[in-house]
Amino acid sequence: MHYIVMDLEWNQPLSHRSAPYRRLGNQLMFEVIQIGAVKLDEAMRMRGSFNQFVAPANYIKLHPRISRITGIRQEDLDGAPDFSQAFSRFVDWCGEDIALSTWGCDDISVLHQNIAFFVKGHPIPPVYDLQRLFGDISGETKNRAGLKNAMNAMGIRPTAEHPFHSAVDDAYYTALVFQRFPDPKALLNHPQTVRTFGQIQTRQQGKTDTLRFSTLAQAIISKPAQQPNCPVCGKRADVPEGYVMMEPGRCRALADCQEHGLLMIDLRLEKDEKGNTRVKRSAMVSDVQSTAYVKTKHLQWANKVAASRQKEASA
Ligand SMILES: [Zn+2]
Repeated sequence: MHYIVMDLEWNQPLSHRSAPYRRLGNQLMFEVIQIGAVKLDEAMRMRGSFNQFVAPANYIKLHPRISRITGIRQEDLDGAPDFSQAFSRFVDWCGEDIALSTWGCDDISVLHQNIAFFVKGHPIPPVYDLQRLFGDISGETKNRAGLKNAMNAMGIRPTAEHPFHSAVDDAYYTALVFQRFPDPKALLNHPQTVRTFGQIQTRQQGKTDTLRFSTLAQAIISKPAQQPNCPVCGKRADVPEGYVMMEPGRCRALADCQEHGLLMIDLRLEKDEKGNTRVKRSAMVSDVQSTAYVKTKHLQWANKVAASRQKEASA
């Protein structure tokens, strides 16, 4: 068996108001523009690397932020093979009897979305999560450690010939971290699970109730906000990332119901009939429920939460 350590770069629409995004956003939120990977044998020796740019077919213009982060230029993508060709080359390079892995769960959602969109019917290989295996080893199970932290913990220093945030170089560093794990086979205990969602019958089923709090700050840390009930089945849902202020007096979080998928939880300040300020909580089931949509929504939301916390800290 070979271990494949994979890293992807992807492009995003220039604007969420753009025509291609409005047409395709529900099925394709990001387009893969680079597949990088390193192959290791069972003795954890590096056996080769794979580096392939991919020409985006819908969000054709490279987003400046993506270009800045990854160092990828528009001319790297022009003339590159499309996703289905690039993916087929990747599958050939991987060979049979492999364990495919990534650092964290971001790449898998984008990969799934791109395979489902461009190579309809292609089986999606199981992908294992090296970040969670590192969590087991380091004891850092609550917070998902970044690759850089893991490299520091293992005494691995980045070098000039392997710049960060190029897919193949990130895969290379991830492989270096992986090589230092005491029991590589334990990777197979960490499959990345893809949740499936039942069809939601009516659009945006929702429920609103009044909480006993008079400020959002109190309400946000309370159980009804942190473990809201799903409006359809009533079961407790998780709020993995946290709340973001949408406007004065209103904040929102994403939550997950095991059965009904993505929920939106809003907390809103309102006056009740006695004129007292109270927090109203409403929970809605998202009307878009593909796995890729939910995963990417969470990614975007985590960024939003981080940005809003930074804003609070600097205020
Ligand atoms: Zn539910």
